Amino acid sequence: MVAGGGLLGLEAAHALHELGMSVTVLERSSRLLRNSLDAVASEMLRSYFEALGITIVTDAETARVEGDGRVEAVVTAQGHRFETEILLVAAGVTPNLELPRQCGLDVARGVIVDSSMRSSDPSIFAVGDLAEFEGRLWGLWPVAVSQAQIAATNIAGGSRTYESGVPTMILKGVGLDVVSFGRVEPAEDETQFADRGEGGHTYRKVVVAGGVIVGGVFLGFGEQAQAAQDAYDSGRQLGDDELVQLAAGDWSSFGGRKELSPVR
Ligand SMILES: Cc1cc2nc3c(=O)[nH]c(=O)nc-3n(C[C@H](O)[C@H](O)[C@H](O)COP(=O)(O)OP(=O)(O)OC[C@H]3O[C@@H](n4cnc5c(N)ncnc54)[C@H](O)[C@@H]3O)c2cc1C
Repeated sequence: MVAGGGLLGLEAAHALHELGMSVTVLERSSRLLRNSLDAVASEMLRSYFEALGITIVTDAETARVEGDGRVEAVVTAQGHRFETEILLVAAGVTPNLELPRQCGLDVARGVIVDSSMRSSDPSIFAVGDLAEFEGRLWGLWPVAVSQAQIAATNIAGGSRTYESGVPTMILKGVGLDVVSFGRVEPAEDETQFADRGEGGHTYRKVVVAGGVIVGGVFLGFGEQAQAAQDAYDSGRQLGDDELVQLAAGDWSSFGGRKELSPVR
């Protein structure tokens, strides 16, 4: 049993499966990688894992471990009991808020910061896994680095603000590369271009606003995922011809029509 269907849980589940074990992933949320993938990609990823022989149980929050001297079963908050010999917990990190509380800082799930990375005490800054900005804690390295740079600039007398956004998510090592960046669901005035590859487990989607890619989700399609991410990172304006091509399902301006199959 793997408790937690996030990046590390899924990578671990795949590795244990490759070692010949019978693996079940218990995920608290109603779908996989909910913060990073749209519903189609989540469902495809689930079906990819299940096709490999890995069981995914969603809406399953690990609540209790039973056993006498060794683990025998896992019980979920939903009341289901799963017998197991091995439990691997990959349920994320929770900030230890004891010290911030002692300092009287405003805390929720983490230390609440404004866009300058200041806590409720203007002489105390917080960044990284501990810092909660606009209700989000990402627990990701690039977020920690960029928040640290912003805090350092502000501490040194400069002025920089942190902008919230969905950081790039990359799932590798499971035989199917999964990448998402920016907004994966279009706002009202935005357009999405999406289609599925052959075999049921490859998918490509970009969200475009004002001719610029503002987000994307890719399962497989590695070359096109990279090209779309480069366009997103640089803010490249797509040409009218590219937009017409995308609308017609022609992704050749992102590296060809080649459709990649998942590599087992
Ligand atoms: C197994 C694992 C794999 C990961 N893989 C990825 C990945 O592939 N990609 C990605 O983007 N992110 C990944 N992360 C997340 C990434 O490591 C974190 O987001 C990042 O390290 C956060 O930086 P931080 O400085 O906030 O916290 P940390 O790196 O945890 O550093 C906090 C430091 O503070 C110290 N400390 C704690 N309390 C005190 C105290 N009271 N006084 C002094 N020191 C204290 C701790 O000992 C620690 O050294 C992974 C994390 C884990 C655990």
